[in-house]
Amino acid sequence: MRILVSAGPTREFLDPVRFLSNRSTGRMGFAVAAAAVAAGHEVALVAGPVELAPPAGLAALDRVVSARDMLAALRRRLAWCDALVMTAAVADFRPARRAPRKVHKGAMPEALRLVRNPDILATLRPRKGGRLFVGFAAETDDVLASAAAKLARKGLDLVVANDVTKPGAGFGVETNVVTFLAPGAAPEALPLLSKAEVARRLVARIEALAAHGDARFPSRAVPARMRALPKRSERSHTP
Ligand code: C5P
Repeated sequence: MRILVSAGPTREFLDPVRFLSNRSTGRMGFAVAAAAVAAGHEVALVAGPVELAPPAGLAALDRVVSARDMLAALRRRLAWCDALVMTAAVADFRPARRAPRKVHKGAMPEALRLVRNPDILATLRPRKGGRLFVGFAAETDDVLASAAAKLARKGLDLVVANDVTKPGAGFGVETNVVTFLAPGAAPEALPLLSKAEVARRLVARIEALAAHGDARFPSRAVPARMRALPKRSERSHTP
């Protein structure tokens, strides 16, 4: 399969040196990309600003900064893939205005006006076709109920839910505690596992969905000329 993975946080700059972001380190998304490569899939990774070395064997790597950059990169690669795995912790809001020069302390307003970023999964949904869309749901309350609502609201094929308040789960650690939720299937609660093992099981679950579901595998249905991957790139969108 051709698997498109997003990973890491996004940064939303309010001036050239200050930004809003979140605690994502990219570990889970990089593990998903590595596991998919190891399972023999073609993998394109779109990564927000992270410190990690990218897994070997990627078909493509795009480095992005903001949510809007990430949307643009994923939009460009969507036609190529059979499955989109949105592991990225996309910032939901950005400052309404980005100053071209550093705002001096005295000139900084006490309240920052924010605007909503586009929801990437929702924006790409009209072009989903037969592709599998997988989302992550990092929650602190009513984890399964919130994740089930997300599954329906975003029209996903699979949601990986995790309670980020649990020891060993969530941001910045090597392990995770997740539950897989898919429409019409019983939730699959996994024990505390390394992120690498969670990723392996996720890739296996995606393969099973692709084999038994009604995914149409766009990459096999269109002529090779049309599905040529944009040239391997490691572009930086500098803030
Ligand atoms: O609604 P919530 O942000 O909790 O949903 C999480 C899922 O949605 C993740 O898979 C995340 O990558 C994706 N997402 C998105 N666009 C956003 C915010 C989150 O696609 N602006």
